[in-house]
Amino acid sequence: MQRLDVKKLQLTKDVKKDIFLCTIFHRIVQRMRMEKLPEIKINSFQLAVLLDEAKKLFYRFVIENLVFCAQCRQNAHEGIDVTEVYLTASNDVRVRGRCRKCNSEVIRLFAFGGDKAFYEKACRLRDSIS
Ligand SMILES: [Zn+2]
Repeated sequence: MQRLDVKKLQLTKDVKKDIFLCTIFHRIVQRMRMEKLPEIKINSFQLAVLLDEAKKLFYRFVIENLVFCAQCRQNAHEGIDVTEVYLTASNDVRVRGRCRKCNSEVIRLFAFGGDKAFYEKACRLRDSIS
């Protein structure tokens, strides 16, 4: 496809201005996407603030039943003891812990960052503790 040369088109001032603004806006959005948030460690109280009721239930269920343990080669049926919780660059929640059965280290990612409300709440938490 031939590239559109804006300079060769007979454009009004307003249209030129619009194209200029769109280009600037596009660059800003690109830059925002490239800037990753730092991964931060959060405590259990901060996690509790972030999770709404449905997410709390889901989180507890996963912690008790659905964290894969490489040592046991299956989900940790006795659950895990959470040792550290992180907010990742994409505002997902990453949990580190130990399998209650064999005491091996386990990691589980909760992809909550894709939820717009959660993402924004996480940004506010970041602002409040930075
Ligand atoms: Zn295990």
